[in-house]
Amino acid sequence: MNPPAAPAQRLPSLDRVLAAAPLRALAERYGHSAVADALRAEFDALRPRVLAGEVTPQALAEDQLAAACGHRLAARFAPRLRSVFNLTGTVLHTNLGRALLPDAAVQSVLRALTTPANLEFDLASGGRGDRDDLVEDLLRELTGAEAATVVNNNAAAVLLTLNALAARKDVIVSRGELVEIGGAFRIPDIMARAGARLVEVGTTNRTHARDYEEAITARTALLMKVHCSNYAVSGFTCDVSGQEAARIAHAHGLPLAVDLGSGTLVDLARWGLPQEATVRETIEAGADLVTFSGDKLLGGPQAGLIVGRKDLIARIKKNPLKRALRVGKLTLAALEPVLRLYLAPEFLAERLSTLRLLTRPQAQIRARAEALLAPVRQAVGPDFGAEAAPLFSQIGSGALPVDTLPSHGLALRPAQGRRSGRQLARLEAALRALPRPVIGRIADNALWLDLRCLEAADEAAFTAQLPRLAELLQGRTA
Ligand SMILES: *Cc1c(COP(=O)(O)O)cnc(C)c1O
Repeated sequence: MNPPAAPAQRLPSLDRVLAAAPLRALAERYGHSAVADALRAEFDALRPRVLAGEVTPQALAEDQLAAACGHRLAARFAPRLRSVFNLTGTVLHTNLGRALLPDAAVQSVLRALTTPANLEFDLASGGRGDRDDLVEDLLRELTGAEAATVVNNNAAAVLLTLNALAARKDVIVSRGELVEIGGAFRIPDIMARAGARLVEVGTTNRTHARDYEEAITARTALLMKVHCSNYAVSGFTCDVSGQEAARIAHAHGLPLAVDLGSGTLVDLARWGLPQEATVRETIEAGADLVTFSGDKLLGGPQAGLIVGRKDLIARIKKNPLKRALRVGKLTLAALEPVLRLYLAPEFLAERLSTLRLLTRPQAQIRARAEALLAPVRQAVGPDFGAEAAPLFSQIGSGALPVDTLPSHGLALRPAQGRRSGRQLARLEAALRALPRPVIGRIADNALWLDLRCLEAADEAAFTAQLPRLAELLQGRTA
């Protein structure tokens, strides 16, 4: 055996290494300046080790340095926003991007990205148009409302509505409806930011018509009802229906605004899903304004929709915040074809991705779970037991929080009870480290992969990375 090489005394010249063939090959791909940055960073990391005599001359050879720079550049140029498999069982998962766009919307976004479009240009007159006009007729037709406008998300819709109609005035809300959505959206905070004064009435579990009536004064601008998106008040409860709240508001010459949150445009019971009041029903029950999200049950892009009385929508559109909260052309390009799908409800469960996932028959999901069991069992190896098992999916994003959908999936359990928490964490991390990360959920000492959201088109991509999962679990790196 050769004696170990004497340690390198110093780093080579940066310019000389950059001019060498392996580094020039990297520059072809990433550009010279990025390669120079990577090499400088590599030298910074090596310098103290060279000084300490820990680095051999071979480690400073050009091809070795090029390989190290290649890793740095690949990481730097890799996208941060990546496709994942959502096997959490929550169809509208806020952290995983909520609704998936149907193909018609994707094509429309592509066109809007690559060609000029009549975003604010009236093709009939040649004059200036209003971007809301692109979807207002559709929204009126689908909701029965007189007018509509669109902003960045539903939080913006609520903020804008309150600021436009109730700045420096009172807004009456039931204590049972002071919802917090995911920490960052709380009705009392939005109210304060909008410059409106929140007047809470009733109690957490019971609010009566007289509570609203007694709170109305000359300072009242609005009655508001908010959908209890992520909780349910049950037991000894009483709340005032939208219809009754509208009657009280109108008797005092006040408008009623309803924040529906998810806001569906169709009766979900038609597809055997839990029932939820539609936007149209809410308008028919007397709401003067309704706000709802574009990327929850509607199944479209992130957006906040405000529909209702023409005079109120006009005031909202005149508010300077409307300009600050407006949507971009990509949102409108995606929203319009999604809304148009609702004109043919017969095809909705097939063409609207969100509804297709929500209505997938349990038997079909079960068949896929059984087909995938063997390859997954093989990939997780002897450390984990795998079985196909029934479970429950959730709609998510505050739609029908207590309702679940029967589904099927794979349950992966640590083979030995000992240190099973750590084993599950290891499995979960390996799934997350895959080229297209797989996100499941841990419950009852098992990692569950709900297959509702693994559609046929994606199954091959899922199984193709199972060998990599096996490697990761065995501690082998790429
Ligand atoms: C989800 C939700 C919101 C926030 O909607 P975003 O589109 O996420 O901004 C507001 N109010 C209610 C009742 C909700 O459910």
